[in-house]
Amino acid sequence: MKFYNARVKFENWKWLLKCAVEILPKDSMIILRNVKMGIDVGIKSLAVVSCGERKRVFKNINRNHKMKRLNKQLKHHQKILARKQQGSKNRLKEKYKVQNIYGRIKRKRHEYIKQTVLKILNIRPKTIVLEDLNIRGMMKNRHLAKSISEQNLYLFRELIERKALELGIKIKFADRFYPSSKTCSNCGHIKKDLQLSERIYKCQKCGKVIDRDFNAALNLERLAE
Ligand SMILES: [Zn+2]
Repeated sequence: MKFYNARVKFENWKWLLKCAVEILPKDSMIILRNVKMGIDVGIKSLAVVSCGERKRVFKNINRNHKMKRLNKQLKHHQKILARKQQGSKNRLKEKYKVQNIYGRIKRKRHEYIKQTVLKILNIRPKTIVLEDLNIRGMMKNRHLAKSISEQNLYLFRELIERKALELGIKIKFADRFYPSSKTCSNCGHIKKDLQLSERIYKCQKCGKVIDRDFNAALNLERLAE
């Protein structure tokens, strides 16, 4: 193992030693499986994966019990902070508390993204198809913007791309206008009026009933060559 770029930082009233570690692969030949994968990235779940047409779900960490509790604590202390007198000692104390909780939330979210990316890539597919999400455009919608930043969707995509490259996994992006959610994975019918609230896809043509996100992931998987 090699260490680089060590630096000491003072963050949230804690001293942190940060450094980069290079881990050399034990075996430079990574064997990929002869399977394709489609990943539907979203708000409800972080990622719904279809690999060999089998479904795997990676949850949105912000919906888990512990994170909800931390977020509640954060809001609670932010309220107290707002009431403290400017320049007072108590205000400063409360400020550290808020920074501390915020830092914990941030680190947990980051760690979760890294772990999820590793789990997904450990399936070792040959090709991964992702939606070419217009994250910048989505950020203009206030409600979506909050979920996107809370879930680190940028980081998720960046890490998937970077790590896949290292492993020799091919990444393909679906065309921005490809209707992965609206297309029936069974018969190809396009449901033009699909609402965001419809969590279950019900095909008007062939009668297929399927989880909305898995339907999209299946369609994406099939775009791989
Ligand atoms: Zn259908």
